[in-house]
Amino acid sequence: MAKIFCIANQKGGVGKTTTTVNLAAGLAKVGQRVLMIDLDPQGNATMGSGVDKRQLETTVYDVLLESASVAEARVHSEKCGYDILGANRELAGAEVEMVALDRREKRLRTALAAVGAEYDFILIDCPPSLSLLTLNGLCAAHGVIVPMQCEYFALEGLTDLVNTIKQVHANLNKNLQIIGLLRVMFDPRITLQQQVSEQLKAHFGEKVFDTVIPRNVRLAEAPSYGLPGVVFDPPAKGSQAFVAFAEELVRKMPPASALAAEAASPP
Ligand code: ADP
Ligand code: MG
Repeated sequence: MAKIFCIANQKGGVGKTTTTVNLAAGLAKVGQRVLMIDLDPQGNATMGSGVDKRQLETTVYDVLLESASVAEARVHSEKCGYDILGANRELAGAEVEMVALDRREKRLRTALAAVGAEYDFILIDCPPSLSLLTLNGLCAAHGVIVPMQCEYFALEGLTDLVNTIKQVHANLNKNLQIIGLLRVMFDPRITLQQQVSEQLKAHFGEKVFDTVIPRNVRLAEAPSYGLPGVVFDPPAKGSQAFVAFAEELVRKMPPASALAAEAASPP
């Protein structure tokens, strides 16, 4: 069964989408079967995986509203090496349309049950808010990977996210846990970043991933070519770091069944 992880952080521009597409490509590169789900109406993870969001006939929107299955709505990218359940602007409407529906937080979870056996990892790129869309991601997942920049307000933002995850764990998904914090856009020359990085390790210990993603312009350039950096420029420092992160995740993660059991105690 697939291990299902949300890439989430309530702040925008912290590297969620970059992490999602590059981790997906990194995992594919080391032989894992991956489905990447774009839960952000901006559709950046879709475009960044070489899929034109404007041309998509079925998206995660149709899956949430149950007019298509995941198998019907997903597409495969040969270049990137993973499957994509894309999103476009239409998804913004799902928020409103789902409010009146039953099981509205659990629609993605239900839909993924049918494809869980086909993948090793399912990665969900979340929008920067605690919306019904994000809740669908959190309800469907075993855990959350939190990309963060080592900046002064980073820890403050984390408190909100940790509280949200605790609430979802208590009320909606007892399997949910924090898988780990990923330090991204890291610049070791900046003393403050080093200090915040140390603080993170002091507070969160083992929950901080060993791999650090450096600030690397190639990662920022790649989306304009419709590719994750890992595929666009494999030798780039940032790309190598994401492949190392994929390897760390494969090495450290127990099977999906054990992940769920592990989360029995609150995060
Ligand atoms: P989010 O999805 O959280 O809004 P993005 O992944 O879109 O964040 O990243 C925000 C911006 O930072 C984008 O322009 C992206 O290209 C850039 N970026 C992300 N990670 C890196 C990195 N490691 N090095 C350089 N630029 C990065
Ligand atoms: Mg994003």
